[in-house]
Amino acid sequence: MTAIRLDGKACAADLEERLKDRISKCNVQPHLAVIIVGDDPASHVYVRNKIKSCERLGIKSTHIELPADTSQEEVAKEIQNLNDDDTLHGILIQSPLPSHMDEGSLTDLIDPSKDVDGFHPVNLGRIVQGRLDGMIPCTPAGVMEMLRWAKVEMSGKKAVVIGRSFNVGMPQALLLASKGADATVTIVHSRTNDAKEECLAADIVIAAVGRPEMVTKDWIKPGAIVVDVGINRVEDVNQERGWRLAGDVHPEVKEMASLLSPVPGGVGPMTVAMLMSNTVLATEIQHQ
Ligand code: NAP
Repeated sequence: MTAIRLDGKACAADLEERLKDRISKCNVQPHLAVIIVGDDPASHVYVRNKIKSCERLGIKSTHIELPADTSQEEVAKEIQNLNDDDTLHGILIQSPLPSHMDEGSLTDLIDPSKDVDGFHPVNLGRIVQGRLDGMIPCTPAGVMEMLRWAKVEMSGKKAVVIGRSFNVGMPQALLLASKGADATVTIVHSRTNDAKEECLAADIVIAAVGRPEMVTKDWIKPGAIVVDVGINRVEDVNQERGWRLAGDVHPEVKEMASLLSPVPGGVGPMTVAMLMSNTVLATEIQHQ
């Protein structure tokens, strides 16, 4: 078997078309503010991609760049200003923040209706309550969008999510188990006795571990659907730049799976597209 490619780029392009239509019906131009602290090169690339997406869709973006030695209080003040600005609909703090900052307490300060990352406790809590009409974290929301786009039947299926982070694994598991998706979900983490055995029983595997190519073909039931969330930089002497991007899933899994998302070009573009979607939703909600 050779897996069909679960094409995140194509799914994101479809979603963007639908967003353009919604944006044209908004009374105001959606406006997203991105705060970036410090000079982590990968974070700057991510922010540039988000700003490019905004430009493509006609979403206004404000980019707030602060030096690495900015204090927690200064970032808090910046968030407060953005909360108070009625012309602005979404606020995002680019992760990671410098180590002297407490990312969680800063997220808590964002007005939940402007929390387009969906990381505020109010927004994460709403998922537990089954209220899925608000800000849902972009990566797991993007995975759900991709599965639906590919017409994957989830109801009654066994799904395994590898990883239990608050931003990916845990909300992913809740979304798969939520009413309407209706999968039966197992969460695998670093203390799971036999991750391979859990995965072998699954119809759907979502890997969000941060360990390059950990999921190999002997972990996957023939015909299973595999979504690779991982983005890892691995050394590669054959590349001019000396590294390549690798997922959490080994490429050989395509010999076993029926559907497999690539890295890059899978969940990555969907995460950015869902950020745009949350920004449009925030605008719609604030201007109802
Ligand atoms: P994270 O916060 O580091 O969480 C990793 C999770 O994997 C933890 O729950 C951890 O378990 C679990 N884990 C670690 N080693 C394991 C093992 N050997 N067996 C089973 N579980 C194990 O990472 P994250 O933020 O969720 O991100 C996960 C991956 O997704 C990373 O590669 C990240 O770069 C990528 N990512 C991609 C996107 C995208 O847009 N495509 C967005 C976000 C993240 P414990 O809880 O027990 O420690």
